[in-house]
Amino acid sequence: MKQKTLRSATDLASAGLIDATEVPAISEVAKKYAVAISPQLQEILDRPGIKQQFVPSVAELYNSPSDQQDPIGDNANSPLKGIIHRYPDRCLLQPVRVCPVYCRFCFRRETVGPGNAALTQTELEACYKYIAEHPAIWEVILSGGDPLILKPQQLANIIMTLDQIEHVEIIRIHSRVPILDSARIDTAMLQALTQRRPIYIVLHINHAAEFSDAAIAAIEQLANNGIVLLGQTVLLKGINDNAATLGQLMRTMVKHRIKPYYLHQADLAAGTSHFRTTIAAGQKLMAALRGNYSGLCQPQYMLDIPGGAGKSPLGPTYITETEQGYVVNDYNGVAHNYNDTV
Ligand SMILES: *Cc1c(COP(=O)(O)O)cnc(C)c1O
Ligand code: SF4
Repeated sequence: MKQKTLRSATDLASAGLIDATEVPAISEVAKKYAVAISPQLQEILDRPGIKQQFVPSVAELYNSPSDQQDPIGDNANSPLKGIIHRYPDRCLLQPVRVCPVYCRFCFRRETVGPGNAALTQTELEACYKYIAEHPAIWEVILSGGDPLILKPQQLANIIMTLDQIEHVEIIRIHSRVPILDSARIDTAMLQALTQRRPIYIVLHINHAAEFSDAAIAAIEQLANNGIVLLGQTVLLKGINDNAATLGQLMRTMVKHRIKPYYLHQADLAAGTSHFRTTIAAGQKLMAALRGNYSGLCQPQYMLDIPGGAGKSPLGPTYITETEQGYVVNDYNGVAHNYNDTV
């Protein structure tokens, strides 16, 4: 395995991932948005759908008129450092803003990157106090950055402290670590993750090619230890925006005990317009999934509404109301009348 995480334009040029002539422009990109291609990721970089997700491109220097600095309104919903609280029954706790690898379409690209210190103990305690003082918070979602980049002991402390808050019943963790930095899922990490139940982990996976042997082994450990695994995928132009690729991804998840949860419409993050599909294209893909793949393989297609209003499903919808009742479309697109009068 190659040893070094690639972080700069010169690293990328030495590894043959960009042309030497591109170094100045890619340095500009790397100055704005963090780059990291871990050794494990380097091993699978030549598989389909991987390079475009992680190797920076000059297209990131272009800002489309719809781009936003804070695309999902995190700032508007942050009552204190480390907490984003948008819905009454659940909030995000962001203990760290570092990731093992940096996605070129990241929705938090303005705020994540190496060198961002984790929350201090004092800051964490303020977050616990906030959660304890809001009894409606039923679920705490550890997000980031990537929470599984913390040392197992740090993570264990966070989980055990949250566990002591009586109204917090569910702890959920959003991560790419098991798939792309799998060695972190070691005995100590498994111990940290199994000291209370339930723990849900939502794995961010955009292409079936991300399932390396190491990733599969880590997922197996998590599932065997009773952690519930869900999958979230960002719909990305040129990477997974066709029915066969998306269907294969969903099947691969299900085969490895990961239930597809959300398919995200790509957010309006700065310098990422080259990754965005139309919503009509996303709806068509969802219809193709529904028609050709098991119900287990169906995520919900979601939009995080710009500005911080929260997430909404984007359909497609199968039902329309008429004067006589309803018209329901089947998976072949054939319309059927349905009347619910009792
Ligand atoms: C996405 C998000 C959640 C989780 O939403 P679910 O629909 O429960 O997955 C919670 N809080 C914030 C601030 C979010 O952005
Ligand atoms: S793992 Fe998540 S937070 Fe980290 S770079 Fe990718 S999209 Fe952004």
